[in-house]
Amino acid sequence: MSSNQSFETAIRAPYWRETVADAPRCKPLAADVACDLAIIGGGFTGLWTALKARERWPDARIVLLEADTCGNAASGRNGGFCAPSISHGVGNAVARWPKEAETLVRLGRENLDGLEADLSAWSIDGGFERSGKLTLAATPWQADGLKAMRDSYARFGVASTLLEGDALKEHLDTPKYAAGLFEPNYALVNPAKLVAGLRRACIEAGVALHEGSPVTGIARDGAHVRLSLAAGSVTAKQAVMATNAAVSLIRRFRTAILPIFDYSLMTEPLSDDQLGAIGWRGRYGVVDSGNQFHYSRKTDDNRILWAGFDAIYHFGSKRDAALLHRPETYARLAATFAEAFPALSGVRFTHAWGGIIDTSARTTFFAGTAFGGTVAYALGFTGQGVSATRFAALAMLDMLEGRKTERSELRMLRSFAVPFPPEPLRSLAVARAQRDLALEDRTGRRSLFLRGLDRLGIGFAS
Ligand SMILES: Cc1cc2nc3c(=O)[nH]c(=O)nc-3n(C[C@H](O)[C@H](O)[C@H](O)COP(=O)(O)OP(=O)(O)OC[C@H]3O[C@@H](n4cnc5c(N)ncnc54)[C@H](O)[C@@H]3O)c2cc1C
Repeated sequence: MSSNQSFETAIRAPYWRETVADAPRCKPLAADVACDLAIIGGGFTGLWTALKARERWPDARIVLLEADTCGNAASGRNGGFCAPSISHGVGNAVARWPKEAETLVRLGRENLDGLEADLSAWSIDGGFERSGKLTLAATPWQADGLKAMRDSYARFGVASTLLEGDALKEHLDTPKYAAGLFEPNYALVNPAKLVAGLRRACIEAGVALHEGSPVTGIARDGAHVRLSLAAGSVTAKQAVMATNAAVSLIRRFRTAILPIFDYSLMTEPLSDDQLGAIGWRGRYGVVDSGNQFHYSRKTDDNRILWAGFDAIYHFGSKRDAALLHRPETYARLAATFAEAFPALSGVRFTHAWGGIIDTSARTTFFAGTAFGGTVAYALGFTGQGVSATRFAALAMLDMLEGRKTERSELRMLRSFAVPFPPEPLRSLAVARAQRDLALEDRTGRRSLFLRGLDRLGIGFAS
C-alpha cells in the first residue's frame, strides 16, 4: 500500500471521541439568569476554572456556557502531551522570561503534580500516565540542540538522559533519527477522557453547564458583566473568557492570536511484533526537534498517533470548519510516517483530523483582567495547553479574587500580548517565518529575519 492509500478510508474525526461513552448534551441556555461566576468556553480552560472555582467558593452560582459541546475544539483534538511546563518548555522560559525562568520551571512541575492530584481527588479518569517523553534529533545540529537542552535542564534540576546509537535503538529504532533526549517526568492524557471527566465533575459539583450556547456579546452592566446569547442572557458578578482560538468577544485580543491549523493521523492498533520492529518499548511520547516537528504516542490499544509538522495559516485568520481536514497534509504525514518507520509499511490509518491552535507571538499564554477587573481571560496557549490551562484557571481565579499571588503576578502572564500585523502583512510575515524555519531545519542556519524576531521576543510556533 502506498502512503497515500493508507489514509484514504480514515474516519474524518478525532479518534479520542471513540474512547468515551456518549453523554447527553447539556441544555442550551434559554432564559435570563444571574450568577456569581460565568465562564465562556467549555474546553480545558473553562472546565478547570469551573471546578477550581467550586473548590474555592462552595456556595457560588457558577454558569458555564459552551458554544458547541465541551471539548469539540482544541481540548478534544490534541495529542495529549501533558507537560511539566507552563511556559512551552524550559528553553522558551529561558529565552523569553530569563528573570523568572526558575519560577516558571518550578511552577510547571508543581502544576503537573497538582493536575494528577486533582484527577485523583475528583475521581477523573483522564488516561493520565507519567510515562515520559523522548525528543529526537534528525541532524547533527539538532543533536547539538539536544545536548544544549540537557545542559539547560540540568541547571533547573530537570532529569533527562541523552541517548545515542544502541541506547537510542532500545527506545526507538528508526533510520531517521540519530539521537534522543529522554525526560522521565512528562505525562500523557487521553484528551477526550479528560474533557469527559472534568465535565462530569463540574456537573456533579453543581456547575450549571449549557452546551449549544454561544455567547454573542459581553458588556459592563453597572458593577456586573452581562453576556448576551441568542435566547437568553447571563448577568454575572464576574466572568472568565476561556475561548482560545475562537474570534474573541473582546476586540483587542483579535490581533493577539493566530488560528493555526494542526493535523493528526491515527493508525490501526499495532501488534507486539509491529511495535517490536520499531523498538518502541515503553509508553513514552515521542517528538522530533525540528521547528516543524512531529509528535507521536501510543494509545491504550497500541495505535500510533502521528501528528504535527505542517502548521497551516489561512489568509484573514480564516477558521472555517471545512479547513479542519486537509488531504495534502494527511498525505504529507503519511509520507513522513513511512520515512520514520519503514518497518511499518502497509499499516493503515483509521482516523484523520485537524484542530486549531491559538498561537501567540510569545508562544506562551497570557492572562489578565478586563472590564474593571470583573472579567478574567487566558489565551494564547500555542500548542502546549493541556497542562497549562489548569494553571491559567488558578491564576484567573486569583486575579478575580483580587489576590496578588506568585501565579497572578508572573510577567509571562501579565506582559503585553504582542499583536500580529493586519493583512496582507500578516500572511506575508507568517509565510516568511515558516519558509525560514523550514530552511533552518534543512541547513541548521537561522535567518536574519528569525534572529530579528528573536531579539524582539517574538516567535512563531505551533
Ligand atoms: C491538533 C492540536 C494538537 C495539540 N496537541 C497538544 C498537546 O499534545 N499538548 C498540549 O499541551 N497542547 C496541545 N494542543 C493545545 C491544547 O489542546 C490547547 O492549548 C487547549 O486545549 C486549550 O484549551 P481551551 O479550553 O483554552 O480551548 P478550547 O479547547 O479550544 O476550548 C475553547 C472553547 O470555547 C468555546 N467558545 C469559543 N467562543 C465561544 C463563545 N463566544 N461562546 C461560548 N463558547 C465559546 C469553543 O466552542 C471551545 O469549546 C494541541 C492543540 C491542537 C489543536
